[in-house]
Order: sequence, then structure tokens, then C-alpha cells
Amino acid sequence: MAPDHGRGATVDSGLLTKTATAIAYVDGTFLPAAEAKVSVLDRGFLFADGVYEVVPAYGGKAFALKEHLARLARSLRELQIANPHAEAEWVALAQQLVERNGGGDCMIYFQVTRGAPEKRAHAFPAGARPTVVGLCSALPAPSEATMRDGVSAITRPDIRWGRCDIKSVALLPNILATQAAAEQACNEAILHRDGRVTEGASSNVFAVLGKSVVTPPKGPDILSGITREVVLEALRAAKVPVQERRLMLNELRSADEIWLTSSTREVLPVTKLDGDPVGSRKPGPVWKKAYAAFQERKSVSSRGA
Ligand code: PLP
Repeated sequence: MAPDHGRGATVDSGLLTKTATAIAYVDGTFLPAAEAKVSVLDRGFLFADGVYEVVPAYGGKAFALKEHLARLARSLRELQIANPHAEAEWVALAQQLVERNGGGDCMIYFQVTRGAPEKRAHAFPAGARPTVVGLCSALPAPSEATMRDGVSAITRPDIRWGRCDIKSVALLPNILATQAAAEQACNEAILHRDGRVTEGASSNVFAVLGKSVVTPPKGPDILSGITREVVLEALRAAKVPVQERRLMLNELRSADEIWLTSSTREVLPVTKLDGDPVGSRKPGPVWKKAYAAFQERKSVSSRGA
């Protein structure tokens, strides 16, 4: 069975055409993505010495862009890479990438590395200029089947480093966990360390336990997801009790509902965990509330409010 990625498995021909003609940005120049290149000496390539951001855009308008840019600035600061752009420049770049790629619902990808010095050496190079890459691709809405039935997830030990709060391009443990999930036709691998759930390989995790929604707290163990924040704010506004606290793996296994959040998957219900049904086996009532509130925020953003 093919893995369910939570979004329409087939991409319509319009989007394919758009991908084929995608426009990328590299260090000040827009050009066809197929022709875009960076140096083999780039430290992103040699050492994974860089950070990235993924920003969804709905109706051609970037969603929660300020928050994504603040996280990008923080990731750069934590790695002592000079931020190559002021916020207004990043905003203009995001807008241009979306426009040049035809607008609509899409996802903007930014990557900044420590640059491409003349020589490969581990220590920070003197005077290297950060490399900036921007990409944009189509973001199809989650499929109807996904919303009706939910997706499956597996659990895996979290073998990542101690600074998962930095959105670093060093993603090997995430890739291995995602591959393990894909091989079992699952959408996500939910990671755990010392009996605690940390997050998904590329998402944050929420569990409904009785009357409360529980999600692991911010800290070095997780990436502070922008979608996570939007959903937390929406739940609090709707007076749903939420707790940012340790979530034990055994609590997750007996949860009434499990959801994943991310910029590309929105709020995705998990209805099977390691082959066992979650709660009622269907996306639950609290998820429905969270999903509706998220859709409301999306539509406000795309209307430019
Ligand atoms: N955690 C990890 C490890 C991720 O890679 C991602 C997104 O890719 C998230 C959480 C969710 O973050 P966001 O909601 O900002 O997309």
C-alpha cells in the first residue's frame, strides 16, 4: 500500500505544470528551479551547517509569516549565522516567490547556510557570506479521505541531538523515522525519549486525554511549531482546556484522540497508532473543533485580514 501523506496522493496536471516551471531564488537571483545551483563547498552541503523554514501560503498570501521569520531569525542566532536579510526583505522575498510561482495555495521554503568558503574546515570560516535559497511549490489541500478517516502513525525512539528547537537542515534521524513510517504505509513517526513523547518526525503532537488537550512543552526537545501555536491559541479562545506538559508514551497509547500539526499538514487526525485504533477509530469531536478554528484562521489570513 502506498503511504498516505495526508494530502491528495495525486497531483493534478495544473500543479504538475507549475512544479515543472518552478522559479527558485539563490543569493539575489530568481531563476528556473531546474537551473538553480549552489557550490559544492557550501557548508549546507558539506556539514548540514544551515537552517530552513517552511511557510504555507493560502490564496497567494503567506500564513503567519511574521512568526516563521521570527523563528528563522532565532535559528540563525542560535547557530551564530548572521541573518542576511531584514524582516521586510524576507517578506518581499516571500511575496515574490509566491507571485513568480503563480500564487494560490503553496509552500515557501527558505534555507540559509553558513556560506561557501574556499576550503572545507569544521570551524566557522572567517568572512563567509551566508547562502540564501528560496523555493516554492504547490500545497494541495488535505484529501477528503484523510479528513474522514484520519491517518496512521508509528512510534519510534527519538535519536536526535539536544537542540531540536533549532530548525536545522540536519534531518537524518527525522528522515530515517519518516522512512520507517512510509514503509508501514504510515503518515508519521511519533518520537519518544525516556518514556515521553517529544514530537513527530516533521510535526508536533497533540493528545486528547479526557477533557484536556495535552501537548509536550516547548524546549530543546521539540521544534516550536507555528501551527502548534496557532492551534493552542485557537483552543484557548474556544475555552477548550489545554495543557502544555510532559506527555507519556503510555498516555498517548490510551488517548481519546491524537493529532499532528504542521505547516503542510495543518491539523491532522491520527486514528491508528502502531496498528492499534485510537479512540473511536475516527477523527474525534475535539479535533473537529480545532480543525474548524484553524480553517477560520486560514481564511481570515487569505482574505488579507
Ligand atoms: N516538528 C518538526 C520536527 C518539524 O519538522 C515540523 C515542521 O516541519 C514541526 C514540528 C511543525 O512545525 P510548523 O507547524 O512550524 O510547520
